Amino acid sequence: MKRKIERVLVTGGAGFIGSHLCRRLLQEGCEVLVFDNLLTGRMSNIEELLGHPKFRFKHYDVTNYLYVEGELDAILHFASPASPADFERLPIQILKVGSLGTHKALGLAKAKGARLLLASTSECYGDPEVNPQPETYWGNVNPIGIRGVYDEAKRFAEAMTMAYHRHHQVDARIVRIFNTFGPRMQLNDGRAIPNFFRQAIRGEDITVYGDGSQTRSFCYVEDLVEGIWRLLNCVHVGPVNIGNPNEMTLLGMAKKIIEVTGSKSRIVYEPLPPDDPKVRRPNIDLARKVLDDWHPKVSVEEGLQRTCAYFQAELAQEKKSK
Ligand code: UDP
Repeated sequence: MKRKIERVLVTGGAGFIGSHLCRRLLQEGCEVLVFDNLLTGRMSNIEELLGHPKFRFKHYDVTNYLYVEGELDAILHFASPASPADFERLPIQILKVGSLGTHKALGLAKAKGARLLLASTSECYGDPEVNPQPETYWGNVNPIGIRGVYDEAKRFAEAMTMAYHRHHQVDARIVRIFNTFGPRMQLNDGRAIPNFFRQAIRGEDITVYGDGSQTRSFCYVEDLVEGIWRLLNCVHVGPVNIGNPNEMTLLGMAKKIIEVTGSKSRIVYEPLPPDDPKVRRPNIDLARKVLDDWHPKVSVEEGLQRTCAYFQAELAQEKKSK
């Protein structure tokens, strides 16, 4: 029988994706508890939710023992720094939340008989030799490179999740999230889209790493959240890619952002960081099959327009507070 999802814990609920998920869960009528240590999450992402009668926030590091009173139907484990800039800044924290944090979340899921949905990543595929990437591809990861801390933490988290599923019958879902963008991304998190918007709006040089021919496929956050909600409510166990298959070069993305912002910035080229994937594009056949024909609805152009308004407001706010 399909279990109704009524009471949910979101780890990392004050982060970019977590905070969008919390809003969706509240809209669906769920009671939402958030645990977040605010390492990369921000209270401003969830400020207006704090007064909601079905929302509760706890400042907590989920690598420690998790205690929740009462019943729990689902745990969405989204806590983790996720920007490549964080891989060098917070390597141990990333390894700990992917391993110890996932272990604690799974232990709680087992104790409560709750469904666990793990936020995994396209980084599981590393620098892929297969493009687009289906879930059956095992990846090409450098375990000891600078990206290895995130890639291996998430691969370990997937392995641990499947072990708890097989060994303890924990009801598990795994979403492999591809590049996602939208409002509430941090201006200074170091990723391409926030960097390009910040630089374009301020009229600074736009820093394209390498020659900009590397590709990514960018999904608007609303589409991602719809996919995650469907995954939470479906019966499929095992990883499912959620992302927008619209693949483009980074140079192409820089030009789109210049256009959307009407900026006069120039593009400058900087060295490509080690192990930077050359291509990335999700194969979403499985998502379409198991998630009732889920596919992205918001075009990259439309998503960039909406995100532009957010970054303009953030930068105006930053200027005022200086
Ligand atoms: N990138 C770039 N300029 C920047 C930041 C990133 O050209 O200011 C490139 C980066 O090298 C990568 C791509 O943009 O090839 C996407 O990087 P991001 O940090 O957004 O996430 P990733 O997909 O690498 O995890």
